[in-house]
Amino acid sequence: MTVSGGGHTALMHCPYCGDEDLFPHGETHGAWECRGCRRAFSVKFLGLLTPGSPGAPR
Ligand SMILES: [Zn+2]
Repeated sequence: MTVSGGGHTALMHCPYCGDEDLFPHGETHGAWECRGCRRAFSVKFLGLLTPGSPGAPR
């Protein structure tokens, strides 16, 4: 799996119900809607974890 630095985030599963029926929501970048639980939500990339910062995997 290749992760580009582009801002295009693809979701595989709904974070709320785990369904895979995810579709882009309107024209908003990073916005998705789940056909399983009928939720619309957005995913935002906040940045990369750096070693030594709290919560970063060792
Ligand atoms: Zn869902």
